[in-house]
Amino acid sequence: MAFLKQIEQKWQRKWEEAKVFEADPDPKKPKCYITVAYPYPNSPQHIGHGRTYTLADVHARYMRMRGYNVLLPMAFHYTGTPVLAMSKRLADNDRDLIDDFVNVYKVPKEKLKEFTEPFKMACYFHEEIKAGMKAIGYSIDWRREFTTVDPQYNRFIEWQFQKLRQKGYITRGSHPVGWCPKDGNPVGQHDTRGDVEPEIGEFTLIKFKYGDWVLPAATLRPETIFGVTNMWLNPKVEYAKAIVDGQKWIVSKESVEKLRFLNRKVTVQETFRGRDLIGKEIVNPATAESILILPASFVDPKNATGVVMSVPGHAPYDYIALENLAKASTELKEYGLAPNIVAAVKPVSIISVTEYSEIPAGDVVKQMQIETQSDPKLEDATREVYRHEFHNGKMKPNTGKYSGLSVAEAKDKVKQDLIAEGKAETMYELLNKPVVCRCGTQCIVKIFEDQWFINYGNLEWKAVVHEALDNMEILPEELRAEFDYVVDWLHEKACARKSGMGTKLPWDPEWIIESLSDSTIYMAYYTIAKHIRKCEIKPAQLTDEVFDYIFLGIGKPAEVAAKAKIDVKVLEGMRHDFSYFYPLDSRHSGRDLVPNHLTFLIFNHTAIFPKELWPRQIVTNGSVTMQGAKMSKSFGNIIPLIEGIAQFGADPLRMGILATAELLQDADFSPTLAKSMQDRLERLYRFGEEIAKVGNPKEAKNLTLPDRWMLSRLQEHIRMATEAMDKLAVRKAIHSGLYELDQDVQWYLRRTVDQRITPMRNEAINYVLSQVMDAQVKMLAPVTPHICEELWSKKGGKGFVALASWPKPSSDKVDVKAEESETLIASAIEDTQSIMKATSMTPKRVHYYVAAAWKWKAYLAALQRSASAKVVQGELMKELMTDPQMKKEAKSVAKFVGQIAEEVNRMSPEKKQRLLQASDIDETVILNDAKNLLRRELKAEIHIYSEDGSKRHDPKNRAQLAKPYRPAIYIE
Ligand SMILES: [Zn+2]
Repeated sequence: MAFLKQIEQKWQRKWEEAKVFEADPDPKKPKCYITVAYPYPNSPQHIGHGRTYTLADVHARYMRMRGYNVLLPMAFHYTGTPVLAMSKRLADNDRDLIDDFVNVYKVPKEKLKEFTEPFKMACYFHEEIKAGMKAIGYSIDWRREFTTVDPQYNRFIEWQFQKLRQKGYITRGSHPVGWCPKDGNPVGQHDTRGDVEPEIGEFTLIKFKYGDWVLPAATLRPETIFGVTNMWLNPKVEYAKAIVDGQKWIVSKESVEKLRFLNRKVTVQETFRGRDLIGKEIVNPATAESILILPASFVDPKNATGVVMSVPGHAPYDYIALENLAKASTELKEYGLAPNIVAAVKPVSIISVTEYSEIPAGDVVKQMQIETQSDPKLEDATREVYRHEFHNGKMKPNTGKYSGLSVAEAKDKVKQDLIAEGKAETMYELLNKPVVCRCGTQCIVKIFEDQWFINYGNLEWKAVVHEALDNMEILPEELRAEFDYVVDWLHEKACARKSGMGTKLPWDPEWIIESLSDSTIYMAYYTIAKHIRKCEIKPAQLTDEVFDYIFLGIGKPAEVAAKAKIDVKVLEGMRHDFSYFYPLDSRHSGRDLVPNHLTFLIFNHTAIFPKELWPRQIVTNGSVTMQGAKMSKSFGNIIPLIEGIAQFGADPLRMGILATAELLQDADFSPTLAKSMQDRLERLYRFGEEIAKVGNPKEAKNLTLPDRWMLSRLQEHIRMATEAMDKLAVRKAIHSGLYELDQDVQWYLRRTVDQRITPMRNEAINYVLSQVMDAQVKMLAPVTPHICEELWSKKGGKGFVALASWPKPSSDKVDVKAEESETLIASAIEDTQSIMKATSMTPKRVHYYVAAAWKWKAYLAALQRSASAKVVQGELMKELMTDPQMKKEAKSVAKFVGQIAEEVNRMSPEKKQRLLQASDIDETVILNDAKNLLRRELKAEIHIYSEDGSKRHDPKNRAQLAKPYRPAIYIE
């Protein structure tokens, strides 16, 4: 382990000294520009954070070896609530958080005091995160680093927002937003605990009449109004009689404040318990029917109005609540409800759908074995009924003029009609409650009035984004549908806040542009950040004309430069860097950013840049779990990244994060896994060290069967690893380049262990192993770069392996005959061992009988036929009988053909192809070549005969059982 640490530090130093990862325009090389979402410096990184960055780094390193001039930069996102809220929690003496920082992340206690100043906290974690990124060996060009509060960056964001405004994508208006009542700010995904995006839905409030009063029942399925059998109130919670915009409403006490945030004028007259209204009758505004108010515990006063209409035919919650109530005699008595009256309330069917009987809610409740109102399965049940009804349901005749409509059509129509008739209104509500702000307050929906929004709802803009998306590569491809969905679903997004650090809205500087809005095109800024730093360009010099020239090529450089007092060479240099590296070739991020950041990135690129500068690829990955559990403070299973590197080493950690899961799967990490990676890499290192001693033999003559086999297998592993890396299936690439290749190397070593007896064999074996090592070090270099650099230099490789060429499979080393021959040997050993096991024999002698020449002829003829069509025994026989030699043994041939026809027919086309390519191999020669190996592995004398040879020891007459590739075996 100590030597791993030394190797890491040594190579990190050497990379830095040689400026290996500093990328500048190079006209001789194709470029590849890769970025990964910059981190919020609001806490130290843990192993979970490492996945996205490590993957991006592996990608960058791979592309470098494929001959690209790769730029991978990094910056830090100080903007907005993520940093602000963390600092505030410390200022408020949040015990949990302090405990976390001090005990888990080992932040010095005296530092914490400074963290109440958000900027100081951000600076501290900025350095902490950067140190971690260096220690794990990311190939970042640090000359381009910046923070989102740098005044020059602020100028860039101002320019971007002016552009968005000029194009009409910034709107001012009133829209519902997720809102923290305590902070008085809109909340997006990055402002909430657990990074939850607040999802806003529109409920229909259907106004049931109770005398002069109205009970506004909140529903997402207004079309079910015709199936209402009763009303639900929660008897235990407080309701209010309130004047809402001049109307007399009865709503839950909790909903009063929410209605006010939705700009309704609410005056509460009195409050009372829900139980007071149980048993009362109210009138359904759509059908004029009188129905009863009944008690239900599932009614959540925090959800919408806390008034719920009951549709037991189509709503599983209602179905089960009604069933429970009918049986609850004490409850009925408590509320003075006559049992026969409740029992008479029966589900009404108003939608027909093929998947279900008359009462879909009843079907699903029974299927899922749901028995109580508190069963969490009810959520799934509700979704399932809705899914089927929405897609396939038809309204029944008892729904009046909506009869025959699909549920999807009726849903909107009923809602519009009820609203038009004054029988319903709407109310925005969070659909994924509870959403908790980073400050700890539960979020609500607010109509955010007269504020600034980016209008992601603009239909023309959406169309352009779809076009961009269609031309992008999405990895993994299965996420494309999700992107398309998000593009359609996005609407106006509040883009400014009153608090936090960041860029002021240029035309309304009371507002600060929030963190998901100032992070959409900053990849362009990296390309010039280096110049701004080096030439100490002042914010005031970065005028809109300067950015217009750099990013859009507008204006004459000499004029623009003179006006901004920038050296024209520097200005042109910036334009040159941008034009060289843009468009972005690949964007990496966790998949949780699909619904916001990644989609915003596409929107904003299409708004600002011409088509040829739109991003080309997005790569998303899943998260990291710890021994099967979610990584979380409450499970006490968080390993800080810095600690992980110190404990396991950078290379084992990188490998541990990437070797167990493909892109979208969660990667499960554990200390045991990291330890096993460590052991594995140490073994690789020791082995490589040995082989490195032979240097780089250029070639060897007289390669024998095992040598040709090993080289052939190597080409296959290179091919597989390359194919996998092209799709960033890193797990698969590691398996090909490390584990599977290694199995073959083990076989090769077993096979040749006693062959180093002549200089010629010695030379050949050294050559083969050096070829293997060369390719393996290169194939693993993106994932475990430190160890690979060390082995590369020990081997006498030129320069850095980080800049070496990725291996190419060479077709002239592919040798199918050698591969099939070695397979023959391996299966002979395996077959013998299973006979030994079955007979519990420890043999003194093992006899092999290889198939007669005529059998080979027949076998190859069968293969030949099966390549184009199924082998028919009769036809094959006919063909074989034209051979006079065969004709002499017609009976045996017929028997043999019977045995192999089916076998050949069942073979995969690839296998057939390989066997035909290998054609006839000399099994006697091959087994003789492996005689030493067989003797060692089986610990017995080995005898090899041919079935049609004259001299053979065959007391049990086994030879006749021999088949091509399956010698008959006799042990004694
Ligand atoms: Zn808050």
